[in-house]
Amino acid sequence: RTVYVNGEYLPEHEATVSIFDRGFLMADGVYEVTSVLDGKLIDFDGHYARLERSLGELDMANPTTHEDLLEVHRELVRANGIEEGMVYLQVTRGNPGDRDFAFPPEDTAQTLVLFTQSKPGLANSPAAKTGIKVISIEDQRWARRDIKTVQLLAPSLGKMAAKRAGADDAWMVEDGHVTEGTSNNAYIVKDGAIITRGLSNDILHGITRAAVLRFAAEAQMQVVERLFTIDEAKEADEAFVTSASTFVMPVVSIDGAAIGTGEPGPVAKRLREIYLEESMKAAI
Ligand code: PMP
Repeated sequence: RTVYVNGEYLPEHEATVSIFDRGFLMADGVYEVTSVLDGKLIDFDGHYARLERSLGELDMANPTTHEDLLEVHRELVRANGIEEGMVYLQVTRGNPGDRDFAFPPEDTAQTLVLFTQSKPGLANSPAAKTGIKVISIEDQRWARRDIKTVQLLAPSLGKMAAKRAGADDAWMVEDGHVTEGTSNNAYIVKDGAIITRGLSNDILHGITRAAVLRFAAEAQMQVVERLFTIDEAKEADEAFVTSASTFVMPVVSIDGAAIGTGEPGPVAKRLREIYLEESMKAAI
């Protein structure tokens, strides 16, 4: 695989980052994942806008531009022959040459790394046909989940708890209300209404979420942004999650309780179709 590090395209085994990098020592970095379908980038502009926002919230400079970053994405997709898959991007506050909690001087070079992951069959994933099972866990993350930092230990532990329980993923719960999935936004459907938590610092502002809610409204589907409890979710007609890497993914059970019929529901299936169709049309 060809990867990108700080201005260079290199074979992955030649790409290196310093042991003093603040991304490594302090999780002082942000990331984005943009999916690739038909060799094209899905919602690149949305991911770039969120990257700028994450950097700004952490007082980190933007080491790149929209134009340059788009070019790097396209070059990696081309060099690695990616038809379906994703491009991962990470920016850290760089290598100050030592370990210190205080930020390094402004002129410290940041680290910018990108690589691709090939996922043949991504759009036609078998999981989308069967739906996934989730468990509920306490949300143990920090209070700025709207910033897409590389601090992913709590979601990673949640994912492992799900696997140990024979499930696929975990929905995180705070004060009885679902925040989101470990790496996706969470939704339920009741009496035709699509219900999802509103935007705040409590959840990541999903790029797929924004697109799906827009498509749902355009298709005259009812969308309600509000808190919902895990108990309400278990009584819902349908449940699903959204993310750049899974698009719209039906959820068929929560903590072992079947949701609705226990099969992917019509709203989730329709939204997945609309999302794939519309976002591929707009892909660049
Ligand atoms: N919430 C969390 C916690 C995530 O990690 C992700 C995936 N990055 C999402 C939601 C979905 O965001 P997006 O649609 O932009 O991939």
